[in-house]
Amino acid sequence: MTTNRPPITGGGHHLDADLIIVGAGCAGLSLAARLADAHTSLRVLLIDPRTEYLDDRSWSFWRPPTHDLSRLVSTSWESWRFSDASGRSIRHSVAGLRYHYVRGADFYADALDRIAHGFGVTRLPGVRVDGLVSLDSGVRVDTDAGTLTARQVVDTRPRPAAALLYQSFAGVEIQSESPLPFETDEVGLMQSMTADAAGLGFVYTLPLTSHTALIEWTRFAAVAAPRSQLLSELDGVLAGLGLQEARVLRHEGGVLGMGLPRERSAITPGVVRAGTGGGALRAASGYGFLRMQRWAEHCAVRLLAGASAVGHPAEPPLRRGMDRLFLQAVRTHPERTADYFMALARGVAPARLVRFLNDGATLGDYANLIVALPTAPFIRELFSKPPVPSELVLPVRA
Ligand SMILES: Cc1cc2nc3c(=O)[nH]c(=O)nc-3n(C[C@H](O)[C@H](O)[C@H](O)COP(=O)(O)OP(=O)(O)OC[C@H]3O[C@@H](n4cnc5c(N)ncnc54)[C@H](O)[C@@H]3O)c2cc1C
Repeated sequence: MTTNRPPITGGGHHLDADLIIVGAGCAGLSLAARLADAHTSLRVLLIDPRTEYLDDRSWSFWRPPTHDLSRLVSTSWESWRFSDASGRSIRHSVAGLRYHYVRGADFYADALDRIAHGFGVTRLPGVRVDGLVSLDSGVRVDTDAGTLTARQVVDTRPRPAAALLYQSFAGVEIQSESPLPFETDEVGLMQSMTADAAGLGFVYTLPLTSHTALIEWTRFAAVAAPRSQLLSELDGVLAGLGLQEARVLRHEGGVLGMGLPRERSAITPGVVRAGTGGGALRAASGYGFLRMQRWAEHCAVRLLAGASAVGHPAEPPLRRGMDRLFLQAVRTHPERTADYFMALARGVAPARLVRFLNDGATLGDYANLIVALPTAPFIRELFSKPPVPSELVLPVRA
């Protein structure tokens, strides 16, 4: 246990904290850093088994050239490209918007620094939470190092759950001696799309500098792809680009559930869920970073005003319906998926598509999406029974 740990009470009358945040990843750190910035008078504990943070992931999103997270952005691009294996290719850009890239290492360092230099949040690294039990006066948090109590708990532990589709991906950040064969102001958002009965595969390329890039091979399918398969397919992608000899600086990859079922199990009173396990990821895209930032801001404002913590807002019905319809159509006709995405890229104005992906779609945007997609399969899905989500059989991080 760390030296700054408060006394273990075993669930007695005195509460160890006003708030315990379980999990110090993207969601937990985002909330904790905001509370620390505000020099909260709340006593907050942040618990995570991690003792060190690796440069294990990165987040990308659309925002204007400068914004409140600009200090974290290492690179941004003005356009993004969709293409398929048959050679069809479409470049998108939106005036006043860029696609921004935040490295995990920069995000973690910023949040940990704010927590260390702010006030009110105590980190308990190296501690795993095993269970949460509701008490009359709050919540008991059972850890592998003892028991703590708090008035309320925000639980950001990821939970494996059956999803409609899985986004499985493996990527490498590479460095090459000679300039890379990419335009430096353009992202390969979904490139060389191929679809068959198993699902969609595509390449995601982020040129970071003229000599470095993050290249990922991604699959959308009803079952999660084994990491060994993804890595061998990624090798094929790199070889196809003539980059098999490039130096690998780091790996990133995972499996994201898309279209997770709504929470059915009873939630412990005094506990709210947040982050991936609390519905942070957008069903149709797997994007969650900005949604977690919005949630953290809202939750922190409430806590600082003396109100209780909240989880992510429920998805508005139209968005939830469109996402579900799209995932169902992809699941039912995986072999057509590349055509669906190319139809969206061709038939929907870039600004509308970004608004849809950024949770800001208008009625007109939805109408445009529907018109752009092939009508027959989507009408059929509208009237068909929703497919049963398939169980995740792979660990999220292989
Ligand atoms: C490689 C990768 C790339 C991604 N790229 C993007 C992207 O570009 N854009 C985007 O929007 N989203 C992206 N995502 C999806 C999502 O934004 C991230 O997974 C994000 O980190 C999720 O945040 P989180 O807080 O829910 O989970 P995490 O960041 O995984 O944090 C969960 C924390 O809970 C801790 N924990 C686990 N078990 C316990 C326990 N028993 N007790 C206490 N703590 C525990 C873990 O140690 C971890 O620190 C990506 C995901 C991955 C894996």
